[in-house]
Parts: sequence; C-alpha cells; structure tokens
Amino acid sequence: MSFPSVKAADRVLEVRYAVRDILIVAEEARRAGRELLYLNIGDPLQFDHATPPHMIEAVERAMRAGRNGYAPSAGTPEALEAIRRWAARKAIDPVQSLLVGNGASEAIELAFAALVDRGDEVLVPNPGYPLYDAVLAKLEARPLHYTLDEAAGWQPDPDDIEARVGPRTRAIVVINPNNPTGSLTDRDRLERIADVARRHGLVLFSDEIYDELVFDGARHVALAALAPDVPAISFGGLSKVFLAPGWRIGWGVISGPGEAVEVWAAAVHQLARARLCASYPMQAAIPAALDGPRDHVTELLAKLTRRRDLTVERLNAIPGVSCVAPRGAFYAFPRVASGEPDVQLVADCIRETGVVVVHGSGFGPALPEPHFRIVFAPPEHVLLPAYAALARFFEKRLGL
Ligand code: PLP
Repeated sequence: MSFPSVKAADRVLEVRYAVRDILIVAEEARRAGRELLYLNIGDPLQFDHATPPHMIEAVERAMRAGRNGYAPSAGTPEALEAIRRWAARKAIDPVQSLLVGNGASEAIELAFAALVDRGDEVLVPNPGYPLYDAVLAKLEARPLHYTLDEAAGWQPDPDDIEARVGPRTRAIVVINPNNPTGSLTDRDRLERIADVARRHGLVLFSDEIYDELVFDGARHVALAALAPDVPAISFGGLSKVFLAPGWRIGWGVISGPGEAVEVWAAAVHQLARARLCASYPMQAAIPAALDGPRDHVTELLAKLTRRRDLTVERLNAIPGVSCVAPRGAFYAFPRVASGEPDVQLVADCIRETGVVVVHGSGFGPALPEPHFRIVFAPPEHVLLPAYAALARFFEKRLGL
C-alpha cells in the first residue's frame, strides 16, 4: 500500500518569494542555451563588493576564543551595546528593548509573531519587500497594501494609509529606503505616518536595512526618532550596508513609551528564547561593523551612484519604459507602457534575453501597468549588455 500524499498547510498557499521563484524560468532559459545575466537577487556579494576584512577578523577571533556555543537569546552584551549606539546615532529614543536575529528577517518575524493574532491586519507598502506578506501569511494575519505614489517618486501617501485603517489593524510597515523602488521617504511624510500610528494606536515597523546606502548626499531619517511617544521597532542588519548577507545577522530596536511596549517586548523575548539565539561567533561582527570604519560604504556608494545613473539613463532611453531615479539601496523599479500582465512579460523577457529581473507583482498586488525590479549592484560590464538586450526586447515587444 502506498503512503497517502502528505498534505501541506493551507497557509503556505499564500507564501510567495518572487525573487527566488523567478529562477525556475531562468533555469529553463539556461537549459535552452541562453546565457543569463542575473539582476534579480539583492545580494551585493554576487558582484564586485566584498565583506570588510575587519568584520571577518572579528568573527575569526570570536571563533578562536571559543565563542561557538549558544549565545544569550537577545544577543551578546557587546552586540547589544553596539546596537544601542547605532540607535542613539539615529536619535531613536527612548530605546526599550533590543534583539539580535538570524537576519533582520528573523527579528521581523519574531516582532510580528509577538504582535498579531489570526485575522489582524498590518499596513504594508505596495510595492514592498515580499517578506512582510510571507510572514503575515504564516501568522494568518492580513496585509493591507498601501500604494506608493510613483508620480511622487514612490513616496507613501499618509492619507491613503489612514483611510485603510480598520478595527483589526495593528501596525504600519515603512521600508526606507524601499526595496524594490529604491525610494527614500521624505521626513514630512514620515512625520505624518507616525501621526497616523499615534492617533490610531498602531505600532510602527521601520525597516532601515539600507539606511546608509543613500545617494547624492541625502540624509536618512529614522522613523522612530520622529515619534518617541509611539511604540516602534526599527530594523537593521549586516546584510546590505555591511556586505555580509550570508552571515544572517540583523536586529530590532523597540522604542516608545515604556508602559506601552512592555508586554509586547516581553512577548518578543519569550519567542526569542524558544528559538535559542542568533549565531554566536557572527555577533562579534556587530560592534566591529557598527563602530568601525566606513571606507567600504564610501566605495560602495561611489559604485552604486554610477550604476544608478547608468541604469536610469539607459532605461529611460527605451521607448515605452520609464524609471524613477532611485535615491537609495540598489534597486530600480521601471514601468512598461503595456497592457499585459507583468508575469508573462518578464518570463518572455528572461527567455528571450537571458536578463533575469523580477516581475513587479512579486512585490505586492499588480499595479495598473507592468513593472519589474532590477538590481543595479552588478558592474557596468554586466549592466551595459543587459540594458542593451532589454532595449532590443522592449522595442520589439512594444513596437514603439
Ligand atoms: N528588509 C528588506 C527591505 C530587504 O530588502 C531585505 C533583504 O533583501 C531584508 C529585510 C532581509 O534582511 P536580512 O538579510 O537581514 O534577513
């Protein structure tokens, strides 16, 4: 007798991660003989960027010093102190609780798992990083998507956010700089979003994993710094600014009025204890990174600025394609003047050109016109042929 097929949980039907799912189409194209140019994964280590040596040395020292057991569940004291200084530099105050996670991803998941019940709602940007929808699906909570305004450089609209708040809404997620648009949220919009949270009793989730990757001398403003009277959690990590995504180290800083956040923060730590800890030796890189030199950031920003300029110029030169200039991170989110679904358009693009990008609806509900995300972290000798191939593809496809 054969064993009956093992049923997967229904909640998994809602979990998608387009950035990696697209690789199935890419693999088909590769097997059909296409040479692939990967502009799909936000991992700077795939390209000409390297983890700063002083961070590697700090981890090596920790391993040799025997820090290979379990660490305290919240994080090592040295790491937590460095994160406290990080928060202080960003004027996040009053800090109430700190947590080191296996990536910002885990800190985000723990913070939500400690907050939402089945059926609760969370305001999430569209387009936005798909982890949020995936985590909420796992928790059987519901994302309420607020639309970023492309015509305003992908800024959030605080009135639109407020209009969506209902009795089950618990939190507002802001991703700044944003993935996938590369937009940097203006201070006055952050202030108005904080005010929506204040008036409706919502928790602010501020994803600041790209906080030091901003172009043209712009200054990043921490959302929680504008709202010391509102419960908030700010996320950072080593994956992007510090070029160590494979180390899986991130953190969350809970701020706001002590009495307001006390129960929730305790619940976060209760869940954190149940998963033991983040990697012990890797946490040694946190003080080294946060308190260490930023030469690698200067170099990275110089490269990314050139590549951003090239990206915007080449994409906007394609008839029917338009691209808002990113102000941070390493993503661009161009729009295509077409009526067809973006999944089809992008799949055909990968098959015909070998350029692997991700369809816009991988980052939230489909927008009226198709979009796609490009990672512009690769060097010019990868980007230039990729954009030339995209130009040929769209010229033919759109017939403009
Ligand atoms: N938040 C955003 C906005 C991201 O783009 C990413 C990764 O791409 C993450 C969080 C995940 O960070 P980590 O590698 O620290 O889990």
